[in-house]
Amino acid sequence: MTETTPTTRSAHATLACQFCGKLNQVDVTRHAQGPKCAECGKPFLLDRPVKVLEENFDRTVLGAEVPVLVDFYADWCGPCKMMAPALDEIAHERAGELLVAKVDTDRSPAISQRYGIRGIPFFGLFNGGKMVKNAVGAVGKKGLLAMLDGA
Ligand SMILES: [Zn+2]
Repeated sequence: MTETTPTTRSAHATLACQFCGKLNQVDVTRHAQGPKCAECGKPFLLDRPVKVLEENFDRTVLGAEVPVLVDFYADWCGPCKMMAPALDEIAHERAGELLVAKVDTDRSPAISQRYGIRGIPFFGLFNGGKMVKNAVGAVGKKGLLAMLDGA
C-alpha cells in the first residue's frame, strides 16, 4: 500500500548540521524517516525552525526546493519572542513541505541589509531563490498563515 501514497516527490535543501555545522543535502520530504548528518550522525530536526547564518543563507534558503519561511529576529526583541511559538508550530505542522528558518539579525546584518529590513520581527517567504512575500511585526500565527496560504 505504500506504492499508492504520493511520496515519490523529493525536495532537497542544503542544511548546516545544528550540532557540527557540516552542510548536508537533505531530502526534507523524508523528515519522518529521521535524516541524519553524514558527518556526526546526529539527526536533522526538520519539524522545528533551523538557525541559518549569513554564510549559509544563500545555499540553505535561496537554494531550497521547498518554500522557506524566514524569521528575522534578535534576542533583545520582545515581539520576536512573542512570535517564536507560532513559528515552532508552523515548522511542526508543515514539516516536509516548508522549512522555517531563523536569522539572527545581529549576527547576520548583511542579510537584513540585502533585503532592506529595518524593523523586526520581519518574516520573509522565500521560494525559488526569491523573497515572494513578507510580513512585518507581531502578526501572530494567523498573520503568518495568511502570508503562507496567500490570503
Ligand atoms: Zn553533524
